[in-house]
Amino acid sequence: MGGRIVSGKITWLDDADRHSPWAQLSVVVAGLGVSGYAAADALMQLGARVTVVDERDGDAERERGTILEVLDVDVRLGPGSTATLPPGTDLVVTSPGWRPNAPLLTAAAAAGTPIWGEVELAWRLRDPATPWLALTGTNGKTTTVRMLAQMLNAAGLRAAAAGNVGEPIVAAVRDPAGHDVIAVELSSYQLHWTHSMTAHSAAVLNLAPDHIDWHGSLEAYAAAKARIYRGVSNACVYNVADPATEHMVREADVAEGARAIGFTLGVPDVGMVGVVDGVLVDRAFVAERQTSAAELAAVDDVQPTAPHNIANALAAAALARSVGVPQSAVRDGLRRHRPEPHRITTVATIDGVDYVDDSKATNPHAAAASLSAYTGVVWIAGGLAKGATFDELVRAVRGRLRGVVLIGADQDVIAESLGRHAPEVPVMAIPAADNRPVDDIMTQVVDAAAGLAEPGDTVLLAPACASMDMFTDYSARGDSFTAAVRRRRRDA
Ligand code: ADP
Repeated sequence: MGGRIVSGKITWLDDADRHSPWAQLSVVVAGLGVSGYAAADALMQLGARVTVVDERDGDAERERGTILEVLDVDVRLGPGSTATLPPGTDLVVTSPGWRPNAPLLTAAAAAGTPIWGEVELAWRLRDPATPWLALTGTNGKTTTVRMLAQMLNAAGLRAAAAGNVGEPIVAAVRDPAGHDVIAVELSSYQLHWTHSMTAHSAAVLNLAPDHIDWHGSLEAYAAAKARIYRGVSNACVYNVADPATEHMVREADVAEGARAIGFTLGVPDVGMVGVVDGVLVDRAFVAERQTSAAELAAVDDVQPTAPHNIANALAAAALARSVGVPQSAVRDGLRRHRPEPHRITTVATIDGVDYVDDSKATNPHAAAASLSAYTGVVWIAGGLAKGATFDELVRAVRGRLRGVVLIGADQDVIAESLGRHAPEVPVMAIPAADNRPVDDIMTQVVDAAAGLAEPGDTVLLAPACASMDMFTDYSARGDSFTAAVRRRRRDA
């Protein structure tokens, strides 16, 4: 039992890796979501004593709990089960959704018990020969990580997209078939609980206020995101148009030899990737970068070709190039990439008007990006504002707005911004407190939008708000919009 106990602490935990004696540990997994389940499963297989706690005891938790109980995990579900830290706990592995001030986590912190996220656990259990390409940002993460995975696969590498997308990363690192490289999407919550990860390369796509309620302040949110650059050995990829991301790189404690690589929608300087005459080019990973740039792909290879999405493609390309992906594989990966649903998906064109579903635009920064891709827009907005403000967004896009249709609980905040900064734009408010089925409301929304639109315009669902006041999630909101548009097309 070499080094087991020093005043109740496991001495090897700080340096734990996949060869450590995990069977010595008593671990509490806080939260039985997808990542909690994967963490508990991995720890069980390593022989640790595992207790899983969750206040929720819905169908999903019970189903996962039943499987884990068969594996001898102590599963405690329901109200009160997370109130205290079980005695003898050596390590807590927390779900990303748990706030740092949850009683069990504050008790662990007070007792000096380490608290890891599932990503930290995965980092400890990884094959050190497999590089991680990590990315975060307020918006564009999933799109970018998917593009990246396609580029890696197009280069013939065995790669997985994992983390905040796809399979839990602890499952990805323990995949017996192994990977050549792992593309990791990380949310700010996950980064908050990730302590020792040092990625091969990392990118922060952009930074705008979001999730301030969880982190406590914009500074704390930014600090969590900045953690992704710590210890990077190859490339710190930043957004030239977003100085906050460059600042994070400058402040980061990186490994010797790591380089800062910018991505820009303009002509790239040396050490950047960018765009020249409709072509994505690389002036960072080519030997002759002082004098020339390498062609990667055409702007038209990026779907959809909205400016923010070109930026996502460039960030993915920089990460891919940092592990030696050839130029042609960047292009082939982009051509193979299919946008995820509800992210600027054109649903139909009716009477010369395009209907576009960007239900995933759940904050003002995302909505601003997608509104900026169109000139004449009827904007469908509203839902749960999460404390966001809309003045800046309305000022930035007012010239593009043909009209606005407002839905959901916090629509008044947006209406006030429109009144202040775009009083000339017609606004239709669809009342929130309404007992009708949401699909009926959405039909009214689409009808109202159609009434405001002129041929050549775009009706854009980019609500800038979360959806949970009316819908299960953003995809249910997008599905409802899509169905309403299709009914309209049928009737047209
Ligand atoms: P995330 O995983 O970060 O939520 P997604 O790739 O799912 O990001 O995109 C979410 C939404 O954010 C999209 O529907 C689009 O409206 C917007 N978006 C995507 N990329 C960007 C970007 N680079 N900058 C600003 N907004 C973006």
